Amino acid sequence: MQRPKRKNPVLRTRLPTLPPAARSRVALGLTAAAALGRFELQQCRDCGTVQYPPREACQKCLSVVLDWKAQPTEGELLAQTVLHHSNDLFFRERLPWRLGLVKLACGPTVVSHLHEEIKNPPMKVRIRAMLDRAGQAVIAALPDKENCDMADDRQLREFTCDPKHRKVLVTDGKTALGQALIKELVSAKTEIVWVGYAEPWKKFAGFDELEKIPQVTLMPLDVTDSKNVRELAAEIAGKVDIVVNNAEVHRSFGIGNRQGVETARAEMDVNYFGLLRLAQEFGPAMRSRGADGSSSAVAWVNLLSIYALANFPPHGTFSASKAAAHSLAQCLRAEMRPAGVRVVNVFPGPIDDEWNQLLPPPKVAPAALAEAIVGALREGIEDVYPGDVAQEWLARWRDNPKALERELSA
Ligand SMILES: [Zn+2]
Repeated sequence: MQRPKRKNPVLRTRLPTLPPAARSRVALGLTAAAALGRFELQQCRDCGTVQYPPREACQKCLSVVLDWKAQPTEGELLAQTVLHHSNDLFFRERLPWRLGLVKLACGPTVVSHLHEEIKNPPMKVRIRAMLDRAGQAVIAALPDKENCDMADDRQLREFTCDPKHRKVLVTDGKTALGQALIKELVSAKTEIVWVGYAEPWKKFAGFDELEKIPQVTLMPLDVTDSKNVRELAAEIAGKVDIVVNNAEVHRSFGIGNRQGVETARAEMDVNYFGLLRLAQEFGPAMRSRGADGSSSAVAWVNLLSIYALANFPPHGTFSASKAAAHSLAQCLRAEMRPAGVRVVNVFPGPIDDEWNQLLPPPKVAPAALAEAIVGALREGIEDVYPGDVAQEWLARWRDNPKALERELSA
C-alpha cells in the first residue's frame, strides 16, 4: 500500500456511509464474539450441528437450545466472484469488491469477504469474524498462514483500524504505558503521533527520547482544562484519525480510609470528564472524516479497567470513575457509529505501575498492554481484555457478575 497522497482541501470529503447493518437479535451473538476477536457459531446442544446463518431452532433436529461456541477457523474456498455493481451506497463507492463461498471444517458454508492473496478456488483458507464499519459481524477469508498483511489489503482495511499511514493522538505521554504505546505506534508505521503531556513547565522522564522520534510531536494537553482541550482540537482535530485516550488518575483506597472527596474528584475529572471533554471537542471533526479515503478517521480508544465491570474495593473510587467512563464510552460508541468510527474499550487488569505496587503478580506490563492495544486496532476488535487476569475476570463476569463482585471484595 502506497502512502496516501496529500489531500486537496478544495475537493469534497466523501461523506460516511455504512454497509447494511440490519441483523436479527439472535444474529448479534456473532457480533458479540467478533467484538472480542472470537469466531463463534451456534451449536445445537442436542445433536451438535453447527448453524449458519444464526437461527432460532436447529436446522437438523429443530431443537431450540443453541449455544454460541468457538469454532475452528479452517475452511476451503469453493467459489469466488467480483462485484462490479452494487445498489448499496457503501459498496458502490468501494467497487470492485471480491466475495467468495467458504466451506467451513465445522460444517456450514458461508459467504466471505476475500483477502487479496486469495486467488482461485479450490484453496485452503482460514476465516475470521470481523466487525464492519457499521459495527456488525461479517466473515472474512484470509490466507492459510499465520501472518498475513491486513494493513495493506484494500478490502480488509475497510474493517480494521490499522494505524499504518494514519495520524494518532495519544493523550498522555508521561506514563510508562503512554511511552510504550508511542513506540508501538511508530513501529506500526503511524505517520504522525501527537503526544499530549500535562504540566508542560516541567520535563518528565523520557521527554528527550520522545522528542528525538521524527514521527512524534509533543503537545501540551491537560484533559481537565476545557480551554486547553478546545485549543488543541482547533489545531489538530481535523487531522486526527485515531485518538488513544490513556490519560488517567489512579489512587488506591476506597471510601473509609480517606477523608474528603478531593482525590475521588481528581479521578473523575481525568477519567470521566476528561473523556467527555475530549469527545466533545474531537468527536464532531472525526465523525465528519469517517470516509476520508484510505486514511480516514477510524477509531477512538479508551483506557478503562476491568474494575469498570465490578468494583475492586481497595481501589474503590478509581473503580467508580472507570465505571462512569465505561458508560460514557458506550454513549460515544453509539454517536460515532454512524460515521463508521469505532470506539475501542480496553479493560486491563492491574497494570505493573506505581499505583499497583502492593498487588501481587500477575500484572500486565505496559509494553504488553501497548502491544494489545495496537493489535486490537490492527484486527478491528472493539472490546479488549489484555492479559491473563483480565481474561479470567471477564470469563467469571460473563458467567456470573455476582460471583466476580464477591470475589473482588473478599
Ligand atoms: Zn440439533
